[in-house]
Amino acid sequence: MTLRPDSAQPGTPVILGIPFDANSSWLRGAAGAPPIIRVAFNSSSSNSWTETGVDLSLRGAYCDAGDLKFTFDEPFAAIENKIGELLDHNLRPVSLGGDHSITLPIVRAFGQRIPGLTILHFDAHPDLYDELEGNRLSHACPFARIMEEGAAKRLIQIGIRTMTGHQREQAQKFGVEVIEMRQLPALDRLKVDGPVYISFDMDALDPAFAPGISHREPGGMSVREAIAHLQAITGKIAGADIVEYNPAQDSTQITATVAAKLLKEMLGMMVLK
Ligand code: MN
Ligand code: MN
Repeated sequence: MTLRPDSAQPGTPVILGIPFDANSSWLRGAAGAPPIIRVAFNSSSSNSWTETGVDLSLRGAYCDAGDLKFTFDEPFAAIENKIGELLDHNLRPVSLGGDHSITLPIVRAFGQRIPGLTILHFDAHPDLYDELEGNRLSHACPFARIMEEGAAKRLIQIGIRTMTGHQREQAQKFGVEVIEMRQLPALDRLKVDGPVYISFDMDALDPAFAPGISHREPGGMSVREAIAHLQAITGKIAGADIVEYNPAQDSTQITATVAAKLLKEMLGMMVLK
């Protein structure tokens, strides 16, 4: 049985599902992701050991807070409050999205509690639009809001291959360090000190490896390249998210298996440091 957050030791990674996709600009479906990623993660088709030698079946390796229930609260307030509550219990939230807009309220909660945060953002897209179709909270905008609010000290983006003129200006304005897909490998650039937050948009991967997403952008990372860049991270991981998995686009559920693999390796790295 999966450990509940209230009996976890300080520093334990905690999984939280965030079934929210109302800020998607193109296709809905990402709200259905968390339970399907969990099924793939718990599948006995693989074992519980990470590549880095951690056995996640050991009691206390991680805990699970279940899926966030949206009630009458404004959804972003509900997300920020829940993440804040987990952080205040000294846990390290690993959120399963949901569209990428959820990273804004998540990082707001981190920014208030963890100064000097560096975000390592894996994505095909910079998500730096000032607004998209009149929506400033669109999944195309979270990193513009995060940098405006000063919720993180540093933003490093990796895997980008859809940069526009406007977003290039935004990146310059906010001092974003952009590692474009065509510059990979860039393992050394992920050696950053201090607390790190990983935001992993599944479309950073090539759609050949991960077709179950809303915006298929060819020319992306292999699963191996993504894991290699994750494993190159040196700073302590304070939290993470895996977003934009869209089960409605994933007829063979291969993308769920990939998301579960990334979750497993992230949790393993958090257990080690
Ligand atoms: Mn994104
Ligand atoms: Mn994306």
